[in-house]
Amino acid sequence: MCGISGVAGLTDVSHILLASIKSLEYRGYDSCGMAILAQRRIEIRKDVGTVDEVIQRQRLYEVHGLLGIAHTRWATHGGVTSVNAHPHRSSDGAFAVVHNGIISNYRQLRGELEELGYVFSSETDSEVIPHLLHFYYRREQDVERALQCCLARLEGSYAFALLTTHEPERLYCAKLQSPLILGIGSNQNFIGSDFNAFIAYTRSAVVLDDHEYAVLTNDSYRIINALTSLPIRKNLMHIAWDPEQAQKGGYPHYMLKEVFEQPQTVSKVLAIERGELEKLARSLFDAGRAYFIGAGTTYYAALFGQYQLAELAQLFVPAISSDEFKFGALVDAETLVVAISQSGETYDTLEALRFAREHGAHTAAIVNVQGSSMTRLVDQVIMQGSGPEICVVSTKSALAQMLILTRLALVAGLLRGTLSAVQYDEREAELRLLPAVIQRILNEKSGFINTIARRHCHVNDWLYLGRGIYYAVAMESALKMKEVAYLHAEGMPGGFLKHGTLALIGEGVNTIVFTPPRAQRELHDLSLGSTEEVKARGGYLIGIHFDAEPSLYQDQVQLPEMPAILGPFAQLVVGQLLAYFAATALKRNVDKPRSLAKSVTVA
Ligand code: GLU
Repeated sequence: MCGISGVAGLTDVSHILLASIKSLEYRGYDSCGMAILAQRRIEIRKDVGTVDEVIQRQRLYEVHGLLGIAHTRWATHGGVTSVNAHPHRSSDGAFAVVHNGIISNYRQLRGELEELGYVFSSETDSEVIPHLLHFYYRREQDVERALQCCLARLEGSYAFALLTTHEPERLYCAKLQSPLILGIGSNQNFIGSDFNAFIAYTRSAVVLDDHEYAVLTNDSYRIINALTSLPIRKNLMHIAWDPEQAQKGGYPHYMLKEVFEQPQTVSKVLAIERGELEKLARSLFDAGRAYFIGAGTTYYAALFGQYQLAELAQLFVPAISSDEFKFGALVDAETLVVAISQSGETYDTLEALRFAREHGAHTAAIVNVQGSSMTRLVDQVIMQGSGPEICVVSTKSALAQMLILTRLALVAGLLRGTLSAVQYDEREAELRLLPAVIQRILNEKSGFINTIARRHCHVNDWLYLGRGIYYAVAMESALKMKEVAYLHAEGMPGGFLKHGTLALIGEGVNTIVFTPPRAQRELHDLSLGSTEEVKARGGYLIGIHFDAEPSLYQDQVQLPEMPAILGPFAQLVVGQLLAYFAATALKRNVDKPRSLAKSVTVA
């Protein structure tokens, strides 16, 4: 779950490495470090803290050389200390390694190595790699052979990069279950855990698959299958993302930038060919049973999809949290599993997909990152095209996924006859208004939402209520508040409230009600019912509504009138802004909130 980068260049690469780990910081950020090889010596500098802090404190900019690797860590084994930060080295200093993932048999390997006299300096699982390399190098007298022997011993998940004084022009890297990509430039080649590692330098990439390793110099690269030792030819891939998109562009945080990018994100989703959605809809019809799966925010996107498919296509596709899939779902050869993931690397979702495939199920995915593990694992992919999402909490990507699921539900409804052609065209035309609707909310409501957030950010306990599809919106909005503002926000269906939770209403608990437009009569009235229940018990109410009775609420965000199908998206944007402004008022680390990493690639 960390960031890895490596560069082999003709000239000094240290500034590139520093820029590269900065752009990977969102993947893990409790500590970082780099190793540079110069004059047949490896210099390692590392420490705890943000990349900027470590650059300054350890003066990373002082180290120069033509070959280097770097790492931003999200600790899994061993505390956040400078000794546990990567790179790790062999005792003789000849090998330096940065690793992402978990070596599951590291205890056994460490025991064996310690018996042989190897001394470990860190508590990490990763440190077994440089020691194993040293051990096998002594036996084989060849770096590549030593790497092959080492890979044969490692279990679990890894993407790692290494450099060695034995071959001062080469970088090596290997992968199993954790993502790893090569960037192919002119006179410089790169290793990265994702495109952001090198997108500022090259748009040509090669995606490594499991059990592959690669050897790079500044002007060459080769890829080898670690199981057969045979070379592999792979196509170069062109990265469609614009490097500019990965910059903050004047916004104080990536989160705000990405929230403000949503009109464009929506336009990208609206440009997805209907044929692609039809294909997935037909797979849903063909399946004996189908599921949507996701983790965290994407689980709520899945839930959103469940409601849309039920309403628009009268199709029941339950949402299951990826981590529970194995235990709660029934899977056979007639099953279709549709996964939702921004990164395409989420461990729990990949595991659920693998489980489904082992049972003969068909799989599909809605994913943002090109070339990611998920896109290569499943039978069918819809690329959401949202561009890089750098802030660790997902905003524009989640909204895009919900919109794709809505369009899927419309197409499915049309094909099944639950929607007439006229109704389908009308709904699609309404969706085309969404970019302007979101733009208007961003322009007109941000300041207002900021005021509400500042007024209430000292309240530690929040209830988020929604009914129908607004239940999914409430859950996702509550998650945003937890993730980024660290406030206890509990989402639930409005109707659930009276079955116990009402006991909490009173001083110190704020309730937000996501009220649908009046056109959705039943949902609208039921939501007002929940509101009254809270009001009757003296709870503080904040309403996000279109046309409800303003007198019901102490604070409110009134949204402009819009077609009912756009309502949940508009409210989602309000939920994002509320969390963002509460987090900034509380001086939280908005783009890299505590205890969360982008693309959670561990179990
Ligand atoms: N398991 C390794 C550690 O704890 C790597 C963690 C990461 O992926 O950042 O150091």
